[in-house]
Amino acid sequence: MYPVNEIFYSLQGEGRWAGRPAVFVRFSGCNLRCAFCDTDHRLCEEMDAQSIVGEVERHATDFVVLTGGEPSLYVDAPLIEMLHDAGKSIAIETNGTHMLPDNIDWITLSPKDGYVDNAEVVLECANELKLVFDGTHTEAIGRYADFDAEYFYLQPCDTGNVERNRAITAAAVDYCLEHPQWSLSLQQQKILNIK
Ligand code: SF4
Repeated sequence: MYPVNEIFYSLQGEGRWAGRPAVFVRFSGCNLRCAFCDTDHRLCEEMDAQSIVGEVERHATDFVVLTGGEPSLYVDAPLIEMLHDAGKSIAIETNGTHMLPDNIDWITLSPKDGYVDNAEVVLECANELKLVFDGTHTEAIGRYADFDAEYFYLQPCDTGNVERNRAITAAAVDYCLEHPQWSLSLQQQKILNIK
């Protein structure tokens, strides 16, 4: 059984696949406690793999994003295999503190070790690296400049304060312009006011 927070159909809002229709399988629970976390971990339904696949198959897209919470605490190779058998391509969004099944198609690594304790990254590569940017942890960004990834994104932190968010986004733009290895990732789902 898997602790599922919600399963929903929307557009991927962030990173390389922004704009792509995706079914999101959000798991409840995380080993970290980031101040900016926007997952309500109290919401949780225990679902088996067949039920998850059945819910995913209700939607037309072939793209599934496993997110959280921290999906690496729960996701295993048999679940990925069943989703593959249903014709789906599988992406995962992880904080990188746990190893992953090796049959996942796309890994988005979003390290949190610049923000909280006990968040050491054990993954050695990813398809994309996406760092939350709050303007004050730039040394953490420098540490990941040589990471084995194809795409490097800075994503402005949503503080819930409009003025503060504006300043953080401006600083993120400046950082990307000065360090063009990094591209800006906006949470387009929030701009579009979609889920
Ligand atoms: S790693 Fe992600 S899910 Fe876990 S507490 Fe931090 S923001 Fe929330």
